Amino acid sequence: MKLAKRMLELMPEGAFTVLSLAQELEKKGKSIIHFEIGQPDFPTPSHIVSAGIEALKMGKTKYTSSLGIYPLREALAKHITQRTGVKTLVNNIAVTPGCKVAIFCALASIIEPGDEVMYPDPGFPAYESLIRFFGGKAVATPLVEERKFSFDMVKFKENFSHKTKAIILNSPGNPTGTIIPLEDLREIEKLVNKTKTWIVSDEIYARILYDDNSYASIYSLPNMKERTIIVDGYSKTYSMTGWRLGYLVAPEFMIEKMDLLLVNAVSCTAEFIQEAGLAAIVGTQKVVDDMVYEFAKRRDFVISALNDISGVTCLKPQGAFYAFPNIKAYKKSSEELASYILKEAGVALLPGAAFGKYGEGYLRISYATDMKNLEEGLRRMKDSLEKLQRLS
Ligand code: PMP
Repeated sequence: MKLAKRMLELMPEGAFTVLSLAQELEKKGKSIIHFEIGQPDFPTPSHIVSAGIEALKMGKTKYTSSLGIYPLREALAKHITQRTGVKTLVNNIAVTPGCKVAIFCALASIIEPGDEVMYPDPGFPAYESLIRFFGGKAVATPLVEERKFSFDMVKFKENFSHKTKAIILNSPGNPTGTIIPLEDLREIEKLVNKTKTWIVSDEIYARILYDDNSYASIYSLPNMKERTIIVDGYSKTYSMTGWRLGYLVAPEFMIEKMDLLLVNAVSCTAEFIQEAGLAAIVGTQKVVDDMVYEFAKRRDFVISALNDISGVTCLKPQGAFYAFPNIKAYKKSSEELASYILKEAGVALLPGAAFGKYGEGYLRISYATDMKNLEEGLRRMKDSLEKLQRLS
């Protein structure tokens, strides 16, 4: 028996691979500090949980329209209009079971076999994996430390051609926490203007911004609405990873077809989950501000503790909840070093190479965990890395 060839193009996601490795070690009795998974440690805010429970009690347990319940689509359209300044209507919104499904649907809708798609490297692993799954040519476009992990715009322009069917952007980005500067967005806009290139803008961290940010969505720039697909979700903003709720903002003619893609693939997103999502978006946003305030404190601690380790340097991220320290001084691959830190110090983190070849020489630490864990994990990392330096 044989699987379809496209199945061979799928790649694993480092966070889930290391999580299972770490859990194996935990089963054997080793104490592990988890810095690998990008999942806020806060509980889902109680008014959102209550709305979900209430919806279940009211029998909201049936199929809904594939594109999502009208009030949620309406609230999301209003939210996107407010956040980006671009008038967005209900017919521009499709609700999905998680942002990943939104990415899947966006790429499924635009990639023809052989199409080139540019994506950020280091970047979220699903981009490359899904481009290849849909038969596209994945064009890794480097984010470079010299530009605070923004694109190398020279390379960006070299990679761009009439064959570029789409460009994936992710700002603030996973794994670097970098915000793409407005001047770069303007350059990208000039490049794609008058072409048939789509932009897929992954904005799942767009609400997790720190005080030193200058965030803008490419959707806000002139004439970008007609070629931009925003993919977003509730996992990070409202600490709802396990609820599986996301959405997609796209031109109306694409949403019409998305209706069919969703009806064929998932029927719809669970109704009571959508009700909880509605409560999240129309309710108080103080819960988001409070989380971001906590993340900012953790970020300051983590960045200063990392820079205090001999041989490690780390830039300050402007958004999301990841630190991406440079470990090139250790002259080991990021994979080897991450594995050493897991075994020696019991700290689970990700090798930069899990995010693409330009991620080599870095590690990714998620600081979506509490201060006590961060203090203990960073202390263990410092001890183990300085021990390694003494030995070599
Ligand atoms: N995009 C990025 C950049 C992410 O980091 C993640 C989660 N790690 C996702 C999408 C997926 O989010 P969801 O849980 O909504 O599927």
